Amino acid sequence: METLPTISYVAIAEQFADERDELMPIIESVLASGNYVGGPAIGRLEEEVARFVGVKHCIALNSGTDALIFGLKCLGVGPGDEVITPPNSFIASTGAIVHVGAKPAFVDVGGDQNMDAERIEAALTSRTKAIMPVHLTGRICDMDPILALADKHGLAVIEDAAQAMGASYKGRKAGSLGNLGCFSAHPLKIFNSCGDCGLVTTDDDEIAQRLRRLRNHGLVDRDTVVEFGFVSRMDVLQAEILRYRLPRLGQIIKTRKKNVALYRQLLDGEIAFIPPDKDYEDNTFTMFVAQVDRRDELQRRLKDNGVGSAVHYPTPLHLQPAAKGFGYKLGDFPMVERQSRRILSLPHHQFLTEGQIRRVCGLIKAFYR
Ligand SMILES: *Cc1c(COP(=O)(O)O)cnc(C)c1O
Repeated sequence: METLPTISYVAIAEQFADERDELMPIIESVLASGNYVGGPAIGRLEEEVARFVGVKHCIALNSGTDALIFGLKCLGVGPGDEVITPPNSFIASTGAIVHVGAKPAFVDVGGDQNMDAERIEAALTSRTKAIMPVHLTGRICDMDPILALADKHGLAVIEDAAQAMGASYKGRKAGSLGNLGCFSAHPLKIFNSCGDCGLVTTDDDEIAQRLRRLRNHGLVDRDTVVEFGFVSRMDVLQAEILRYRLPRLGQIIKTRKKNVALYRQLLDGEIAFIPPDKDYEDNTFTMFVAQVDRRDELQRRLKDNGVGSAVHYPTPLHLQPAAKGFGYKLGDFPMVERQSRRILSLPHHQFLTEGQIRRVCGLIKAFYR
């Protein structure tokens, strides 16, 4: 029997192969310079990202998780505080809340998998300090109601925009909507480097200054520490790769939107639920998620036919063993729990061909026939 070529779920190595001729000289010049940590490349990246997002400051760090932890710290979130957040994010969102000593206060999501703003007010307590919406899969949250609630109750808003560089809401970019925007540039994100990287965006001068200290031991100059900090600097190599990729991000998003349009055309409706884009959204589709019946069976069928897929995420955060102490139980967040059994991230990257998408959809249709 002839075996069909595999269709991978992501295409990280292909991305490098495509950029190789232009990227290798950049990488070589960084290595030849002998300057690998700190220096002007970091500042240039920060300026370029700040301009792209539409904020005054960007601070480059060594992970999206640190961006969230440091961000919460700078907003004054600490022991005894609660942070409103959805239970269907990557663990890092809740992990960051826990690591500053605070407690996650989960709020269920809507059909689009993003936090349902209408449910926030019921979750507020006298300890609520901040709201952390997550722009899951690069789909922007409906931010106006969230910002209005934050304003009404005097809460800070920290956007987990790890998956959403380039997404926008009513013309304003992810990372410019709350007090702080936190990004990851991990290889699997839409704006990606070749290792761990993170970024914070903000208009707040004082927070920007403090973040620059915190990432470098708390040093204000070579020999003076004003508060004890961390080591969370972005490598020059990663910064230069991101500087190369930033101007190319728009084209990648455009190609992915075209893929999504074809997926929608072939799948939407009876077979799969794919949340429609609302008029305020401009999404990046970092992942392309379909909500389907018999998800695990379908995933196995795809795998048997050489098609990769993933689930983001199979276990809601409130049901993780590590979250036991927060007192949540099965049944607390019906939407997230139901979606966790139905969501499937299909192959989705800028190198996917029309033929590959048609083959994936053909397999899916055959499975339900
Ligand atoms: C990836 C991710 C993070 C963490 O970013 P890292 O760079 O891997 O530390 C946080 N939140 C969300 C939603 C993510 O997808």
